[in-house]
Amino acid sequence: MTKQRLIVASNNKNKLREFDAILGSRFEIVSMHDAGIDADIEENGTTFEENALIKARYVMDKTGCAAIADDSGLEVDALGGAPGVYSARYCGRHGDDEANNDLLLENLKDVPAPRTGRYVAAIALVRPGHDDIVRRGTCDGVILFERRGNGGFGYDPLFLCETGETFAEVSMETKNRISHRKRGIAAVLSALEAEA
Ligand code: IMP
Repeated sequence: MTKQRLIVASNNKNKLREFDAILGSRFEIVSMHDAGIDADIEENGTTFEENALIKARYVMDKTGCAAIADDSGLEVDALGGAPGVYSARYCGRHGDDEANNDLLLENLKDVPAPRTGRYVAAIALVRPGHDDIVRRGTCDGVILFERRGNGGFGYDPLFLCETGETFAEVSMETKNRISHRKRGIAAVLSALEAEA
């Protein structure tokens, strides 16, 4: 059976790899770049869900194909949920992971352990002629006082997950079993199955 084509509305290589590992056996995962879209989509929503829908709909409108997007970030309880939807540009520049992690440590310097928080991912699946599906996945953890591990991306070196390792230390398999993105995608797949 030929797999259904699904364009991932992201240019983030790490996210694309995670989408492919989680959904690749079921869908033909195509990056935005390979679908011929070279745009920086403006994420001007105020929630993860709004931003995920903005990105997925942009790609579907350009291509006429089904698209999936995530909007994700880190919520830290002691910071009132910051950086939240601003996670990628917390330090003022988009995607500067090192500066984002430095600022997070600075803003938490007077907060004792455990500095609890969670990764959040809203996943939006949009398809021509069908209702949109948007679901949220979360993954609880604590923010360490210094970086640990060389893998992952973003805030992963500071994010201690339920295995006792940071997301920069766990294997790709472990991250893709327990991550916010995995849980959000699983919820979207359940909603898809419930339609059938
Ligand atoms: P988005 O691309 O607008 O959804 O921004 C997501 C941002 O949240 C990333 O740039 C990271 O800073 C952070 N983030 C989301 N998911 C993860 C993850 O799995 N690991 C590390 N950082 C993440």
